[in-house]
Amino acid sequence: METKLLTEKDIDTAAAILREGGLVGIPTETVYGLGANGLCPEAVARIFTAKGRPQDNPLILHIPEAEWLDRYCRNIPPAAYELAERCWPGPLTMVLPRRENVPDIVTAGLDTVGVRCPDHPVTLAAIRAAGVPVAAPSGNVSGRPSPTCAGHMWEDMAGKIDAILDGGPCGVGVESTIIDLTAPVPRLLRPGGLPLEELQKVLGEVAVDAALLRPLRAEERPMAPGMKYRHYAPKAPVTVVTGPGEASAAYICRRLTPRTGVICFTEYAPLFQSGTVRDIGGAGDQGVQARRVFDALRSFDSTGVTEIYAQCPSETGLGLAVANRLKKAAGFHVVEV
Ligand code: AMP
Ligand code: MG
Repeated sequence: METKLLTEKDIDTAAAILREGGLVGIPTETVYGLGANGLCPEAVARIFTAKGRPQDNPLILHIPEAEWLDRYCRNIPPAAYELAERCWPGPLTMVLPRRENVPDIVTAGLDTVGVRCPDHPVTLAAIRAAGVPVAAPSGNVSGRPSPTCAGHMWEDMAGKIDAILDGGPCGVGVESTIIDLTAPVPRLLRPGGLPLEELQKVLGEVAVDAALLRPLRAEERPMAPGMKYRHYAPKAPVTVVTGPGEASAAYICRRLTPRTGVICFTEYAPLFQSGTVRDIGGAGDQGVQARRVFDALRSFDSTGVTEIYAQCPSETGLGLAVANRLKKAAGFHVVEV
């Protein structure tokens, strides 16, 4: 299949492809998504094939405004509208009871659906023009780091999908925060582009599962289907080093060889005199770290590195999402110094 590269001038073309059951790579503020008509099971099935995604991992429905929530969800609590008012368009996905018009393949058979309004003018215009909700996971091949620019999507999806809509690099760089509003106490299912602290301002108590910070044990059931899969991983094995920046940098320096990959903060980059070094931003600049983390992980695959060490940000604000992506890329291989 020939994959068309579209720009903001081609919104009507992208909308027509979506409406007719094709697949389009869509820019959002978080990461690029692989979108299809969310009301058409055959179209959604093609997403799973193109990504090599397990069928039991549900997708998120993307809508252009909160008024559409009621079309696909029922028993919507007032907190959902409050969150939408404050945080949409933006990097927040709400899990709510679904209506019957949402195909099983979107929700992997669950009776809930994840819904989000993305903050990207090109994609909002394409969804509006298509007139249907767009089901999309991240646009990477299953297991690889998520795409944060059209070039990454091209690497993973050229020849497999109808089109990629180039909307520039992603402003946030990590996926949406997912909150389950069907539980008695709202539960964080994935830390992401909206800091947990922002959710707590609206919801008060939020349950945070230990599985976000460590691997699941064999007997444990994942809270969200996506939690059980290996994610975001470059080819070389990753070790995350937590602790004060000086200490983690010193630990990595002692292990440095010409074939070591390093993810580090700007302050420590000059210490690494060998290996392949990726600076993901200042130790305190978690916004920059979020924008760069997937590009850094992905970039090692075209180098000869045989092992990768990553300094880990503190787990406040966006740091919770950045640390979670690094730990998942490492299969939770974490060293505390
Ligand atoms: P991705 O953006 O590639 O991570 O894919 C969407 C994510 O949303 C996956 O991690 C899913 O497990 C999660 N998700 C989507 N719908 C639901 C749902 N109804 N309940 C729990 N998690 C969901
Ligand atoms: Mg993904």
